[in-house]
Amino acid sequence: MRKFNLLTSGIMLVFITFIIPPQRGFAQTSVPKPEEHFGFVPGSDYMLFNYEQLIGYLEKLDKASPMLKLVENGQSPMGRKMYIAFISSEENINNLDRLREINKELALNPDLTEIQQAEYVKDGRVFFLATLSMHSTEVAPSQALPLIAYQLITTDDPLLKKYLDDVVYMVVPNHNPDGMDFVVENYNKYKGTQYEGASLPRVYHKYVGHDNNRDFVTLSQEDTKAISRIFDLDWFPQVMIEKHQMGSTSIRYYVPPTTDPIAENIDAELWAWTGIFGTNMLRDLTSEGLAGVGQKTLYDDYWPGSTETCIWKNVIGMLTEAASAREASPVYIEPNELQVGKGLSEYEKSINFPLPWPGGWWHLGDIVKLEIESTNSIIKTASLLKNDILKFRNDICKREVEKGKTEPPYYFVVPAEQADQSELIALVELMKEHGINTFQLTEDYTLNGINLKTGDIVYPLAQPFRAFLKEVMEKQEYPVRHFTPGGEIMRPYDITSWSLPLHRGLKSYEIKARDTGFETKLKPLTEVYNPLKSEYKLPAVFSVTSNGSFKASFIAMQKGLKVSRLNKEVSINGKAYAKGSFVIQGNEGEQFNNIVKESLTEPGFIEEPGKLELSAVSMPRIALVETYFHDMDAGWTRYLFDTYKLPFTVLHPDEFEKTDFVKNYDIVIFPGTGKNYLMTGKPGSETNPYMSSYHPDYIKGMGKKGLEKLMLFVNDGGKIISWGPSTDLFTGMLEITLDKEKKEEFMLPFSNVADQARKDGLLVPGSLIRMKLKKDHPLTFGMPEEVGVFYRGNPLFNTTVPRFDMDRRVIGAFAEKEILMSGYCEKEEKMAEKPAMIWIKKGKGEFILYSFNPQFRASTPATYKLLFNALLPFQTE
Ligand SMILES: [Zn+2]
Repeated sequence: MRKFNLLTSGIMLVFITFIIPPQRGFAQTSVPKPEEHFGFVPGSDYMLFNYEQLIGYLEKLDKASPMLKLVENGQSPMGRKMYIAFISSEENINNLDRLREINKELALNPDLTEIQQAEYVKDGRVFFLATLSMHSTEVAPSQALPLIAYQLITTDDPLLKKYLDDVVYMVVPNHNPDGMDFVVENYNKYKGTQYEGASLPRVYHKYVGHDNNRDFVTLSQEDTKAISRIFDLDWFPQVMIEKHQMGSTSIRYYVPPTTDPIAENIDAELWAWTGIFGTNMLRDLTSEGLAGVGQKTLYDDYWPGSTETCIWKNVIGMLTEAASAREASPVYIEPNELQVGKGLSEYEKSINFPLPWPGGWWHLGDIVKLEIESTNSIIKTASLLKNDILKFRNDICKREVEKGKTEPPYYFVVPAEQADQSELIALVELMKEHGINTFQLTEDYTLNGINLKTGDIVYPLAQPFRAFLKEVMEKQEYPVRHFTPGGEIMRPYDITSWSLPLHRGLKSYEIKARDTGFETKLKPLTEVYNPLKSEYKLPAVFSVTSNGSFKASFIAMQKGLKVSRLNKEVSINGKAYAKGSFVIQGNEGEQFNNIVKESLTEPGFIEEPGKLELSAVSMPRIALVETYFHDMDAGWTRYLFDTYKLPFTVLHPDEFEKTDFVKNYDIVIFPGTGKNYLMTGKPGSETNPYMSSYHPDYIKGMGKKGLEKLMLFVNDGGKIISWGPSTDLFTGMLEITLDKEKKEEFMLPFSNVADQARKDGLLVPGSLIRMKLKKDHPLTFGMPEEVGVFYRGNPLFNTTVPRFDMDRRVIGAFAEKEILMSGYCEKEEKMAEKPAMIWIKKGKGEFILYSFNPQFRASTPATYKLLFNALLPFQTE
């Protein structure tokens, strides 16, 4: 039903002001209007352009106008080119290299004199970075860009032209080009049908979908790397905004600042700046008559998203969130459907929400208008306060460096000798990608009673991105804040732990005393950190304590080399190799040296492999279960397996019935997806159903028949690996039909008691929890005796005494006390000593179940081995 057309609505008035042909020189008159390129005015109901069309238009503007320059900035995970469009005065566009140098000096040089600083402030420009539509269903920001760009480069408004003399607007036209094309294609497929607006039946990204905003510490994905590099290494913008959308029934537009809590490591003045920009947006949008703008509600600034990690690096980082239409289809919202959230208790005129929107039709064009006006507002604020903003950027750099010299901690040290060499090398390179200054110790040194060795990695806190460094190197303590004194706690928006050493299983020291003598023993590490040699010989042994050794073995097996595991610990050339370490034999040469390079792990040479007790291993045939329902955890698992070169086949639950598991697979993996999605493809639960947003073609699950097939696969010798909510598939009564006469019912010897624990007050929003591991077990090869696991409170396991052809072993259990290692948790004692990783036998087959995510968002390498070991066959006792 198309009751309302943008072209006849009041919204067109705004567009018309942009569409009046400019009266200036030749270049300007040749600037194509958006509708000439796209065939419609962007923001019109039911109309979306795709990524190629968007870039095509910006390329035309680049050719036609000296005020816009399109620069390539990396690649999306599926190989689409990513760009930054620089929009500013002609003079600034011609002067970008020089302006970039000024940005860098202001951002990174704590030693500028007052005179130098003042010069740079005078000559510099505010660089305002906007990243659009990282979440691909949040279509409006990218759809608004052609209008914004056209308006800026053709304006005759003397004020706006003055603003563009002061400000360089640098915009990433779309943060997630692959997802944009998926979503636009899907929208057009169902447009005009009963199912218009149906959700995309996959993640809107090669791997991680919405979690691309959860990758700004790990930087695992190509698109997040490209964005992060803009503010870490390349351009150092002073102001950054991410453009998002939220659901349809909240306030119309969220502008900064956020609610509490906020990250404690951040300079106080920076928070005030987010308030200044946000309040100016509120004022400008409201004065344009745009209702429904609110601030200090819904979102907090204590989690590691794109905005937040930007703030950790001294950028005035912000986001806006618009209420959504149904992609490009309008929605009608009744007043009683309007909702509020954290920071705004009533949908009424309030100090942070002074002009409530009354309800009614909501169009893509309404959001586009908000995008245009909020962008104009930021450009205006940046211009009006240009000198203050640029001075602030250098002041904060000076202050952070000074804090690093006067406030503990002073250094983080990561020893070069680690159980997992591959994670050490990866960490050092990651920190450099984040723009962190890295040093190496040039001689052995005793610091604070700790014996440090030549080559150890040192991060002095006295550096510009001190806040980032401190955030990611320390363990997290959630800043508890309440709505009223003694009242309800403000719950975390997202996860609460991201400590790199803990999540990666690396030893590190936080040094709380300053030692200037120590500082003279440090040399900057600017080249690639690579302690490996270029030539190694076979036969070779790889320590099981390194994740990279598994990678080396997975690659070697596929290259036809012989791979085995040590049956007992051996010492080779003075180095101990624990039980389960990998021995690789075969023809050496370039191929093997490439394997070592990929593994980031130094192998040992074996003189006489015949003398070792070895068990051969082979590559299992893996099915990885992914649902149609934006299954991010499955996507992350695909990413991990691709990275570790593990071959696998993706199976959707509705394909189970036609799949011959016994013939085709050794292992079936269930990442952390809810039982209902897996069984029926429906959201909600039997007692609390809600309607699916997917086309009926995709509302399908494995059904009872699929589950029974899976149980027969196990009974016959198959292996199931499952973690998080998907483990609920295997609780309760299960059934197999062995032949017409013979049916077997059984219950596996474990249960999920999370519901009761939650009622008793257990809250784990995404935290690192201490787990003790069973020693000397094939599932724990290479692991320390205790490790932090990433846990979200569900499931919570108990085991029971098994009957008949079943058995179970607890492989890992939560600690008895001091259970929380990093992050936030309430009533941690409710999980004390609970099984967290269980091995279960049924018939000839087995289950390996984890209550935690062993591979959470590719950010928990400390527990990857618990998954990798499970993939390789072993004998149990
Ligand atoms: Zn979003």
